[in-house]
Amino acid sequence: MTEPFVCMDCASRQPDPGECRRCGSGPMLDARDPEVRNTLLGDDERRARKREGLVIGASVLAAIPIVVGLELALPLFEALLRVGGCFGELIASGALAVVLWQVGRRVWPFRHRFAFLRSG
Ligand SMILES: [Zn+2]
Repeated sequence: MTEPFVCMDCASRQPDPGECRRCGSGPMLDARDPEVRNTLLGDDERRARKREGLVIGASVLAAIPIVVGLELALPLFEALLRVGGCFGELIASGALAVVLWQVGRRVWPFRHRFAFLRSG
């Protein structure tokens, strides 16, 4: 590892400790220390889970008005949902939320800040 010192704020790497040359934050953390690596990877995982929760929440929040709007605009769609009884809207909203969630993950992928720690 030629640049073992990592900035926790911007994930910049440099060969020496002290302040980060990119963002000025400090002190730099020594990524050769397994405890530091675990902390940084754990931070990445927490941010990944938080992002996933945001994407799922936004998908659910977007799916409900879309389904209601389609029901209001398209009588055939409403009739189709009525086949499912009172669960029609729930099933349609849930299915659309899953689609939006999967699209959201691809359009807005999470980038692990400390991905370089996994390989090296
Ligand atoms: Zn930095």
